[in-house]
Amino acid sequence: MREPAAHIPVPPVTADRVAVPLLDVSRGNQLLEGEIDSAIRAVVKSGRFLHGPEVRDLEERVAALSGAKHAIACASGSDALLIPLMALGLGPGDEVICPSFTFFATASAVWRLGATPVFVDIDPKTYNVDPNCVQDAITLRTRAIIPVHLFGQCADMTALSEIATRHGISVIEDAAQAIGAEHDGRGAGSMGWVGAFSFYPTKNLGGMGDGGLMTCQDDVTAERLRLYANHGMNPRYHHSVVGINSRLDTIQAAILGVKLRWLDTWTAARRRNAALYDKLLTTSGLAEDVTLPTEAAAAKHAWNQYTLRIPFGQRDAVRKHLADRQIGSEIYYPIPLHQQECFKSLGYKPGSLPHTERAAKEVLSLPIFPELRPDEQRSVVEGLASFYRGRQRLAA
Ligand SMILES: *Cc1c(COP(=O)(O)O)cnc(C)c1O
Repeated sequence: MREPAAHIPVPPVTADRVAVPLLDVSRGNQLLEGEIDSAIRAVVKSGRFLHGPEVRDLEERVAALSGAKHAIACASGSDALLIPLMALGLGPGDEVICPSFTFFATASAVWRLGATPVFVDIDPKTYNVDPNCVQDAITLRTRAIIPVHLFGQCADMTALSEIATRHGISVIEDAAQAIGAEHDGRGAGSMGWVGAFSFYPTKNLGGMGDGGLMTCQDDVTAERLRLYANHGMNPRYHHSVVGINSRLDTIQAAILGVKLRWLDTWTAARRRNAALYDKLLTTSGLAEDVTLPTEAAAAKHAWNQYTLRIPFGQRDAVRKHLADRQIGSEIYYPIPLHQQECFKSLGYKPGSLPHTERAAKEVLSLPIFPELRPDEQRSVVEGLASFYRGRQRLAA
């Protein structure tokens, strides 16, 4: 078994590579190919495609790294949000407070149980839910809060936990983008009632297919989450509740087990890349044209995304300018959930979540993956600089 090196392995530079991809998962997987192949082959030989020992091993290691007592693997990050809500017995008439500036799964888990997602606005600096807005949204029907640790930075769990405790409501951390992140020295997923993780290939610990995991602190919750993830069945063919089938394949667990040994190294690389962008954007003067992402004082950011704010209605033009130079970028997220057609019946008016609506018009995420090279980061910043140089010339 090869130990992770102090520095990150990067495939050799090919001279003809000029494009900078938003994400290149194969660079990370390429150097682990041999190990991943043997891990898959071992599962094939064992014939234990479900419930293999690799699943339990992964659960224990993710629990340890996040600082949670228990971890229960499941089929996706979306299920990792749905299952705890099922275990709460959530249903019609219940309300769950969550951000609108997030991936769809955060709110769909609430909706599909017949409960009502109550969308609240964000702190425009961190893009995470504003605890004051959460406080204002609490009613007698509020059952839970789902803070999202967006882009790899934890929401203000100190304030949110205090609010939740005061009102006797549960906190489910959507840590899909934040494995390895911390708030006040505590791991993402270890601070709420349940933490939800995703192993979708673009996440900081990505599988080769779908996968998810729930963390929690108490034994009773752990048992209930396992029950709901397994048809509500325990013992065999005895169903005390109606659950779902949500499992992580042994092959995925084996692949993730190989990759997990690199997570710290990859997180450190993402943090280095973010620091280099900060430096390049500042020294080039671009920090006056665009707003750099911030890391809150209590946060250890895991940088799933490095997200700029491009003001004055220029975001889409900047994105096209970069695309013309074969530089990848992406908008997370262009349409807030409270403005999605499927949630029209909730009746949110334009302007009801102003910071969210503004962020959706201004954000642009740049390549930040661990194996990204410094020369590629310079190309990205140069691409951005050339947009603003052009504009100044036009204006002059
Ligand atoms: C990716 C993601 C999910 C869903 O994870 P899947 O594994 O794709 O189901 C949920 N919430 C957030 C914030 C995500 O980024």
